[in-house]
Amino acid sequence: MAMSCGLRDYDDPAWWYTPADDFSALDTKRSRKCCSCGEKLKVGVQVLKFRRWRNPRNDFEDRFYGDGGEVPMPTMYMCEECGSIALACELSEVSFLLGEDNLKEEVEVFVKKKSKFL
Ligand SMILES: [Zn+2]
Repeated sequence: MAMSCGLRDYDDPAWWYTPADDFSALDTKRSRKCCSCGEKLKVGVQVLKFRRWRNPRNDFEDRFYGDGGEVPMPTMYMCEECGSIALACELSEVSFLLGEDNLKEEVEVFVKKKSKFL
């Protein structure tokens, strides 16, 4: 399961990301999709931005970005609800797969499981 305690596996990730510290207005030319729940995000709504990058994969990229440099990748966005969950996960060192996990669904599953023990 994606939302579990523990550290991420950094051995050979395809890319890395850093979440924004706080929400800001979506400032793209066109709308985007929440990378968690898929909700359409209109320009100007509050979103959490995830800057992404990866290591150079060939000689050309090595020369262009420097050995071990950072190759920028398209930023991912989350709606306010998913972004709040993501920030809470970051604070509690709970890992999730950006762009793959639907955080709203993960929380629902978690709450259901937890309620069985109450
Ligand atoms: Zn969302």
